[in-house]
Amino acid sequence: LIIDPATDLVLEANAASETLLGYPTQQLVGTSFTKLLNSDSAQAADALMLHSAQMLAFSTLPIRRSDGAHAIVDLTLTTIPWMQDHVTLATLRDASDRLDLEAERIRTEVLQAEMNKERELVNLKSRFVSTVSHEFRTPLSVILSSSDILTRYGEKMTHERHQEHIDRIRGHAMLMTEMLNDVLTLNKMQSGAWQLQPGPVDVIRLCESVLEQVRISRGEHHVLQFSYQGDFADIVIDDKVIQHVLLNLLTNAVKYSPSGSSVDLRLRREGETLLFEIQDRGIGIPEEDQARMFEPFYRAVNAADIEGTGLGLAIVKEKVLLHGGEISFVSRVGEGTTFRVRIPCHHQLNDAN
Ligand code: ATP
Ligand code: MG
Repeated sequence: LIIDPATDLVLEANAASETLLGYPTQQLVGTSFTKLLNSDSAQAADALMLHSAQMLAFSTLPIRRSDGAHAIVDLTLTTIPWMQDHVTLATLRDASDRLDLEAERIRTEVLQAEMNKERELVNLKSRFVSTVSHEFRTPLSVILSSSDILTRYGEKMTHERHQEHIDRIRGHAMLMTEMLNDVLTLNKMQSGAWQLQPGPVDVIRLCESVLEQVRISRGEHHVLQFSYQGDFADIVIDDKVIQHVLLNLLTNAVKYSPSGSSVDLRLRREGETLLFEIQDRGIGIPEEDQARMFEPFYRAVNAADIEGTGLGLAIVKEKVLLHGGEISFVSRVGEGTTFRVRIPCHHQLNDAN
């Protein structure tokens, strides 16, 4: 269409515009271009305004044809010389096919993304099954071999040897129970069937007792240090939950750092928030693994040789969230990791439900 920019009237129309707009050419000539588009969309107004400022305008917009049917067109407005003056050349192109294709492409992409997610989930689950099976196989084989030895040679053994095997069986059975409990706890928390039990807590004592626990169980080769700052006289939290969170994070800190290195637990109060920091100087978490660290069963590539199921952090995160808090970490491979846990000093009972 050729349009007179001063009057907005159509000066010339080709056959294609007849087909596209549904008016005979004679009727098109002399009609107001804006009216012709029958488009009340803001894009049309924008395009025309841009054009009136002598700029090239391009827009995709809905129009209404003479028969009332809707169509989507790509509209281009350019200024061209005409006789002694300038006029507007409006090119309209039916965009329906293009948009259909685009919609189809988007649909395919969404579908693809969903499939990828599904596959990821299946991968994660199958990795879980294989990890759990693997993790169970180790204590199971220990239990089996010890009970075998007891059956065959038990009567010839010294009392100490005998007891040693019994202890191994007990220890590994307990480990398996722990793993099963972890899986069940996670499941329970994720399905919402878990309740907090907040009460007044001496948080400094709690920290000290957790550190002592870690020291006894696996920290004898690490320097475990505790420092705190602030007033903690009126804390109301679920001590079991926080104890579990700290125990897990400290155990990780010790587990993923070389013996002889130090692990710090720092406690601070920031207004109504308790801030725990657990810092180690260990192997660190590779950047490409960091985003997925809280997913159940996810383990970083550099942790492959160190025993673990990848359940600890997933449970920790659920517990922190349940407690109205948040957890994050910063880590550098070969330098160490610092986990930060923030929880409200006074847990509101009604938050728990
Ligand atoms: P478990 O279920 O026995 O705790 P895990 O320690 O492997 O097994 P998480 O505690 O969930 O599992 O930790 C997940 C992963 O995060 C670990 O496998 C390890 O790759 C990484 N990670 C966690 N804490 C640290 C840390 N302090 N330093 C380095 N890597 C860590
Ligand atoms: Mg762990």
